[in-house]
Amino acid sequence: MNNSLSTCVLGSSSAGNSTLIWNSGTAILIDCGFSPAYITSQLRRLGLSIQDLDGVFITHIHGDHVHESTVRRLIQQCVPIFCPPQIEPHLQKKYSALAKASHQGLLKPIKKSEVELSEFHIRAFEVPHDSDGGCFGYSVSFDAEGGTKKISVTTDMAYPTKSVVGHIANSDVIVIESNYDVEMLEQSDRPVWLKRRIREDGHLSNDQCGESLLQIMDRSQSLPKSLALAHVSQECNTNALAVECTEAALESKGISEISVFETHPGRPGRTITV
Ligand SMILES: [Zn+2]
Repeated sequence: MNNSLSTCVLGSSSAGNSTLIWNSGTAILIDCGFSPAYITSQLRRLGLSIQDLDGVFITHIHGDHVHESTVRRLIQQCVPIFCPPQIEPHLQKKYSALAKASHQGLLKPIKKSEVELSEFHIRAFEVPHDSDGGCFGYSVSFDAEGGTKKISVTTDMAYPTKSVVGHIANSDVIVIESNYDVEMLEQSDRPVWLKRRIREDGHLSNDQCGESLLQIMDRSQSLPKSLALAHVSQECNTNALAVECTEAALESKGISEISVFETHPGRPGRTITV
């Protein structure tokens, strides 16, 4: 029996996002915002191929989460692409490859927010990030011998709602955005409207990431084992600042046993297994 669950953020930034979650029986991607060559090479490094994917789950329609050539490759290999029904028409309108996937029965709207794929139970939950049709995070659970293992991924959140906190609670691994440092965003030469959009409906700052994690832990029966900080802005943040800020939030509650990992724009982060 499979007894572990692994994840690797294959890459994360405003230039591309994709996270692999797998064990020896099942493998899925959350988002496919990289070229087929990049995704194929990353899967190969981990002993997998595109054919081994049981499904790809799309969070929202922004271009850093969907790469059309990769969608075409997924169609060739008959890999199903799942999305919440609210974003399906927007995906089809924006990406001709996804309209084609739909015609071939390979773009599958998720009914009642849940999908069972082989041994994985996958749940979509809405997050406030500003995107046509809405934006979603995913929790993947798997019944292992010693109990359920759960990994949650939300690379674009904006701010935590009660419902988001509840869905992520009790995860063993949380992949969460830590997008910007408040001062670096203010000092950047981005236009005022964009700064406001990022702050209000776009992304979590480092401080908000730490606060969100504390809220999630408050709602959890046990602490997560690992955190991976994603979608770190290359202009308005650094990995060192993001990690420092989350570690400080954990320390403020006397928590020292959780590993905090970095992710990177064009190369994979650490493989985390629980
Ligand atoms: Zn987005």
